Amino acid sequence: MQTVKIPVSLDPFRAASSGLRYEGIVPSGNNKRLNELCAGDCSDVVVSLECGVDLQGIVYLRGKAVTELTLLCQRCMTQYATEVTVDFCFSPCKNETEIDELPDAYDPIECNEIGEVRLHQLIEDELIVAMPIIPMHEDTDCSSGSKDIVVGEIDPAHEERPNPFAVLEKLKSK
Ligand SMILES: [Zn+2]
Repeated sequence: MQTVKIPVSLDPFRAASSGLRYEGIVPSGNNKRLNELCAGDCSDVVVSLECGVDLQGIVYLRGKAVTELTLLCQRCMTQYATEVTVDFCFSPCKNETEIDELPDAYDPIECNEIGEVRLHQLIEDELIVAMPIIPMHEDTDCSSGSKDIVVGEIDPAHEERPNPFAVLEKLKSK
């Protein structure tokens, strides 16, 4: 296997019946949406992909994608790089019934009008989902240390305040 560019799209049925395998990259520049969500461009995505048919006759595209993202730490507001890895196992489905019958181990994907799936887009989607919701350094790496993010003052007397809904309840019962 040689390092190649991962195809932008492919026919999963044909790829599976030929048992295609890829070790390659998706160039960073192809991940526009991902780059926009980050504080800087991600590195090239290293992808390994295996296409095949399982014992139940299900066509699958299974693999792994790894990239390094530049994110903005929400605690100290400086940039940092973090590696994100996603494992995926897609299976092309033609309709709702096929999606319903697909075992949980597989993620259904849709083929376009020429019977291909947009591989780069699928991998980018997976990476976006895997991004941390609140990007933050590890405690030991963060210049703000292990301080918690202050979301708002927590009033210790809060619990003792009368429930504002109690007033509504009173009104309702009148
Ligand atoms: Zn930080």
